[in-house]
Amino acid sequence: MALLKIRKFPDDVLKHPAEPVENIDGKLNTLLDSMAQTMYAAPGVGLAAPQVGESSRVIVLDTDHENPGKHLLKLINPKIVEAEGKIVWEEGCLSVIDYTADVERAARVLVRAWTPEQKEIEIEADDLLAVALQHEIDHLDGKLFIDRISRIKRELYRRKLKKLIREGKADDRPSSVRI
Ligand SMILES: [Zn+2]
Repeated sequence: MALLKIRKFPDDVLKHPAEPVENIDGKLNTLLDSMAQTMYAAPGVGLAAPQVGESSRVIVLDTDHENPGKHLLKLINPKIVEAEGKIVWEEGCLSVIDYTADVERAARVLVRAWTPEQKEIEIEADDLLAVALQHEIDHLDGKLFIDRISRIKRELYRRKLKKLIREGKADDRPSSVRI
């Protein structure tokens, strides 16, 4: 296991849809373990493989801040099979520094995925877990939460980021809510 480097917007790797997993093997399990370790260290509640530069449809999530590790989810080829209702959540992202925005998502989702134990499971989620699942699965499709806000807000963020990079402040500014 190792801490992985988290790629930041506008890194190209974040824009590309990830490849489906065809073999659940030792290499994949090592990646999942390292992703979980990187997520906890960040700290964040979720992390998708493209965020660490891997084009692979896997995510890790843990929305239970009080018992870290107890409800860790490692999901392989996750897919939203049902979605209903609407919820607006203030989202941030480990790959989008120093920015949060309100994003509208489905309030409840049913997600089907494979586990490292090679079992196909279904997860019903609402609240933060529903938001986090949609946010992470977006990463697998090459989408960031800032692709779901208005063009004006996105443009203002691009300018702010350019300024931060120019001033050399881009590296030490994580966002406050990190999915
Ligand atoms: Zn994210």
